[in-house]
Amino acid sequence: IKSDPTVFVIFGGTGDLNMRKLAPALYNLYLDGWMPKQFSIIGTGRTKYTDEQYRQTLLDGINQFSRSGKADPVKWKAFSESVYYQSSDVKDHESYKEFGTRIEKHAADWKTKPNVIYYMAVSPNFFPIIASNLSKAKLTQDTKRVRVVIEKPFGHDLESAKELNQLLANIFDECQIYRIDHYLGKETVQNIMAFRFANSLFEPLWNRNYIEHVQISVTEQLGMGERGDYYDGSGALRDMIQNHLLQLLCLVAMETPINWESDEVRNRKVEVLRAMRPFTADDVRNSTVRGQYAKGWMEGKEVPGYREEAKVDPQSNTETFAAIKFFVDNWRWQGVPFYLRTGKRLHQSASVITIQFRDVPHKVFPSETSESWAQNRLIISIQPEMSIRLQVQAKRPGLDMILNPVDMVFDYKGTYSNQTPEAYETLLLDTMMGDQTLFMRGDQVESAWELVMPILNTWQNKKSLSFPNYSADSWGPESAEALIARDGFHWFTLP
Ligand code: NAD
Repeated sequence: IKSDPTVFVIFGGTGDLNMRKLAPALYNLYLDGWMPKQFSIIGTGRTKYTDEQYRQTLLDGINQFSRSGKADPVKWKAFSESVYYQSSDVKDHESYKEFGTRIEKHAADWKTKPNVIYYMAVSPNFFPIIASNLSKAKLTQDTKRVRVVIEKPFGHDLESAKELNQLLANIFDECQIYRIDHYLGKETVQNIMAFRFANSLFEPLWNRNYIEHVQISVTEQLGMGERGDYYDGSGALRDMIQNHLLQLLCLVAMETPINWESDEVRNRKVEVLRAMRPFTADDVRNSTVRGQYAKGWMEGKEVPGYREEAKVDPQSNTETFAAIKFFVDNWRWQGVPFYLRTGKRLHQSASVITIQFRDVPHKVFPSETSESWAQNRLIISIQPEMSIRLQVQAKRPGLDMILNPVDMVFDYKGTYSNQTPEAYETLLLDTMMGDQTLFMRGDQVESAWELVMPILNTWQNKKSLSFPNYSADSWGPESAEALIARDGFHWFTLP
């Protein structure tokens, strides 16, 4: 099934996100036959380009970043004939009339009303002005066909997220608003739901009776790169935990939806956020850890500390690492800790969810394993490795009865020969099809902000820190180990 004819208007059409992600995703959707027969991509930015010059910049991006490699000249030509450029300032409301004229022309040529998708790949400061200028130009009224895609970050705190939601709600219907959390488009992340709800094997065990604790760890080797100015005003809690990691937690913890309708699934997810235990000042002290990296060595190269990075305040107290213990106060999860951690300049780049099952009630066999709590684990590896492994105990071959943990592995690479689509391909296709399941609803975003606000506020008010407190190429501050070790566990890492 393909979507109806579609016009994309990409604000920030000359920006990094479009070059690296959006344009390659649209091109790959085209190669794989998912684009509608009639489509048009109108990039817009302040730079002056002709259509031809703009197409060339996108081609450069695609050649560099597309998962399908260098573009095939014939296919690229056919695709690029539907790519246009309009130079304009988002603040100039007159220029929006031009979008209207272009859309009407497509409608006349195609003899049908197209879907129109406005993609806000610009700084969040511009989200309100673009929305209100679209509205002034009467480009938003068709609630069935007009959609708007909002990039992260969605708000800087609860108050600003509420404001943005309110502003969008004055202009659009919720069914028109697609708030992107690109983690939700990842193949392995979507598979969490398939894995949980399409197998009878796991669901009976998926609760406090059998699960001891859950870890969600998103670690990065990278430092700031060019993003220092944005990141310094944000930090690990806002940039990663409030959105991506809490969304992963929701997928692990949600109740079974009755069907695959977008609001049904999103209702179940928002219920998890609503059930999460609010943080008191004591909880912030006892159950959270923040860190900032010092300079050090990574893979034989000296790397700067966070405070020495470009566009970062040399006295910055922004955290580049956060580890937090959460609880979900409902019947299923009572007493089961969820440990989340994320950080930059860590030893490994890996996004991994570990479900640790409880120990057997009585040990019959002598075990040679050094870990006392290593009996059964489900390890969902999201990136870069894409796999699900179940660790079980098995007898080691030999005359002795000695047990060892072994892995039952579902590895994408070994199972499927074709390439997996990028998250943005999935999400752009869903936007064309009008499927909001993998997008954040307004109340979801607000609930997630509500949960992290006490942590942000306490961290903000208590600035006497001994930053930097972890060295590059480590696993973060020692206190993050202590946070989980106090409960008798340790952070799981991939070999
Ligand atoms: P960028 O700075 O590379 O691009 C900004 C774009 O905005 C450019 O096309 C520029 O021409 C345009 N722009 C700036 N001022 C304008 C104006 N007054 N009128 C018209 N156009 C104007 O930024 P980016 O990295 O592409 O990020 C864009 C958005 O996507 C941000 O909200 C960012 O948080 C989000 N995002 C980016 C990435 C990424 O990988 N780059 C990932 C996730 C989210």
